[in-house]
Amino acid sequence: MNTGLDPSLDPAPLAWLRSILEVAPDAKLGSYIGGYSIAGQGQEITLTNPADGTPSLSYSDMGHEQVAQALDSAITGWRAWAALSAQARGVALARLSELVMAHSEALARLESWSSGKAIKASRAQMAAVAEIFRYYAGWTDKFTGRTIPVPTGQLNYTLREPLGVVFQIMPWNSPLYLAAWNAAPALAMGNAVLLKPSELTPLSALALAKLAVQAGLPAGTLNVANGLGQTIGPVAIEHSAIKKVVFVGSTQTGRRVNSAAGARPIPCLLELGGKSANIVFEDADLEQAAHAAVVAAFSNTGQNCAAGSRLLVQKGIHDAFVEKLMAASSRYKVGAPLDEDADCGPINNAAQYKRTWDMIAMGLSEGASLMLGDAQPPAQSGYYIAPTILTGVHNQMRIAREEVFGPVVVVIPFDTEEEAVSIANDSEFGLAGAVWTRDIARAHRVAARVRAGIFWINMYRDMHVATPFGGYDNSGYGRGSGEEALYEYTQVKSVWVPHAAGQ
Ligand code: NAD
Repeated sequence: MNTGLDPSLDPAPLAWLRSILEVAPDAKLGSYIGGYSIAGQGQEITLTNPADGTPSLSYSDMGHEQVAQALDSAITGWRAWAALSAQARGVALARLSELVMAHSEALARLESWSSGKAIKASRAQMAAVAEIFRYYAGWTDKFTGRTIPVPTGQLNYTLREPLGVVFQIMPWNSPLYLAAWNAAPALAMGNAVLLKPSELTPLSALALAKLAVQAGLPAGTLNVANGLGQTIGPVAIEHSAIKKVVFVGSTQTGRRVNSAAGARPIPCLLELGGKSANIVFEDADLEQAAHAAVVAAFSNTGQNCAAGSRLLVQKGIHDAFVEKLMAASSRYKVGAPLDEDADCGPINNAAQYKRTWDMIAMGLSEGASLMLGDAQPPAQSGYYIAPTILTGVHNQMRIAREEVFGPVVVVIPFDTEEEAVSIANDSEFGLAGAVWTRDIARAHRVAARVRAGIFWINMYRDMHVATPFGGYDNSGYGRGSGEEALYEYTQVKSVWVPHAAGQ
């Protein structure tokens, strides 16, 4: 496949990153501590270009000593940041939003080059990153404590105080968007953040940390720890400076992180995997539902925690709906990350590429029928997988129960509303879901009965930073956005004072 990457443009995203970090053109990249870009001291990690499978960049894991250095710097940064007025913190975050917007094209190109995300999607995410910082900039001086009418002659009021330094561990599917989504509310409430991007996508967070310093956040307020989860994670979680761990990633790693945090104990916020049910009833607008089902399942090449990867279709419309789904999916363009027309790019990395093919093979071996896509990897360079539709699936098959995190949707037929809800809820996950119907009472009934943290009626996938996002069951706990996130990043102090005359 043509990678669409003009070789003369290939180094451009890295050259831009080095220039914004103010390091030499041949400087080794690594982590970002206390306002400086530093080369790592640990194991060397080689990244691969998802567009053609060739090595693209090597850098070194930060190593244990640098983790300790990053935490010292975060404590210093936190003291300076928390000492600012809420208004001053708001001004700095608003300035960061403007800087992200000013550099959005360069950031989007860097993100697409390193993660494989289609450039159209990266551009949309950079606009969202700017919006996220703008949104939380507005909250800094509006989230307050309460005065509580205690039945005694005393005054009681509450203060909402920052936690201190928060450790945020991120995955590779939407690197900068998820970094902003999680770091912005923590920063807005006066915390410092030690951000650990996925070892597979370390770059865009470095640019964000530098822009944060330019925006006026004290050095150390946002540090970036790049490298492997198993070297950085346990050391940081055990360190007394860390007051909360926020983990976005797989359920398996989430359990490990949760146990390590629980051993101290410090609180966690977990945003984990999903296998969300997108339910289509006979009376739905089928054209609209089919188009939305394509985006639900295949956007970002299915590397989306809230993907509508189980498509539940009422039996009477099953065949007609699958036809529409196939037609709409065929128009969904898979292309090189920097291809201006691509709707989605390659899979981010070799391991996930292999896992996705293994899952397709497993679904076929369980008896599913391949309606669209390939049964095996075609001869090509790069980690491209076309939208894949499997029918003849029932909910007990592994392909219906396990998260693929690739462009694979399974179609599961159902008869009644009761059965649809029961299939939707027969899952270890509870992240998202949707229903398509013209019956408004049924829409609300199903929304109420499906166990999921996010639910859409006659739409799929729209999100906004102002609304809560998070899962039920093995999809995690806590809410990482909206007003709810402000509770996650503050602790309450109850203050008493004698009030009545003569006390
Ligand atoms: P992953 O669990 O393999 O890794 C996530 C992060 O954890 C990485 O930064 C990794 O370095 C780190 N890590 C690994 N071992 C660790 C350890 N022992 N201690 C601390 N950190 C450790 O996940 P991934 O493959 O990067 O991402 C894909 C998963 O993320 C999917 O399951 C997807 O559903 C999930 N995800 C969830 C959301 C959400 O909001 N619910 C959003 C995006 C992705």
